[in-house]
Amino acid sequence: MMFIDPHAHMISRVTDDYEAMAKAGVVAVIEPAFWLGQPRTHVATYIDYLSSIIGFERFRAGQFGIRHYCTIGLNSKEANNEELAEAVMEILPQFALKEGVVAIGEIGYDEQTELEDKYFRAQLELAKELDLPVMIHTPHRDKKRGTSRSMDVCIEHGMDPSKIIVDHNNEETVREVLDRGFWAAFSIYPSTKMGNSRMVDILAEYGAERIMVDSACDWGISEPLGVAKTAALALERGIPEENVRLVCYQNALDAYGQSGQMKEEDWLNPPPVDQRGLYEGNSVLRGGREPLIEDDTDKRTLNNLIIE
Ligand SMILES: [Zn+2]
Repeated sequence: MMFIDPHAHMISRVTDDYEAMAKAGVVAVIEPAFWLGQPRTHVATYIDYLSSIIGFERFRAGQFGIRHYCTIGLNSKEANNEELAEAVMEILPQFALKEGVVAIGEIGYDEQTELEDKYFRAQLELAKELDLPVMIHTPHRDKKRGTSRSMDVCIEHGMDPSKIIVDHNNEETVREVLDRGFWAAFSIYPSTKMGNSRMVDILAEYGAERIMVDSACDWGISEPLGVAKTAALALERGIPEENVRLVCYQNALDAYGQSGQMKEEDWLNPPPVDQRGLYEGNSVLRGGREPLIEDDTDKRTLNNLIIE
């Protein structure tokens, strides 16, 4: 089975993670622009970060046979630094139109402050103007209210729920998100919040329509195999295979594919991996490491996708 991880901060991960994800069947990842743990103090570092997720990280993923997409946005936490936020808003449009950008995101609320609200709304307008989907980060604190409010604001701005992916859902929020016609994404976090056993219970209760699973792997304790492990557990517990395919693959493609930047063809017929490749003079190889070089016959297709 092929998987898409539609929320993975790969910039924080190591090459072992890419190898493990590829081996588990992950063919594509979406890297949302987010904060880095350390607050940024200048727009220039923001520019370099956005350039990284559009550039080097895309290259790095490709060196392990994974297609990499990203979302562009000012995250809710850094929206509280008004000087930075104003400057970031200025540069977002030029990044949002680059190749491989599938949405504006992840945006929304953290502490639900006035500044967060201001920049969330401004970025919804940007998404509307550029006709891009939106990835919404729902707050970890006061989640239910924050999730409802996020959707209220989207509607207020005339957004179509079919273009909005509301992420980090749980048992408390899923019903409302689905009833209102939005996409409901779930981040699988080890030990806390949403584990994959709870996720399977949700799939059993709600089916597969407009639901998607992601790992949200980042610089904290997280599991890059969250999507593949959830799929395996769901199958083991009797969730129909077609539903697993929808929530771990197809729904993410349908939602983010609305950008016109993400197509199945990208991974069914990818350029062969050649680890001798360079990006701005950099390679993923170290020392005398033997590069992996695929020839055209190694290309992945639906028929010969072997998952060991
Ligand atoms: Zn995230």
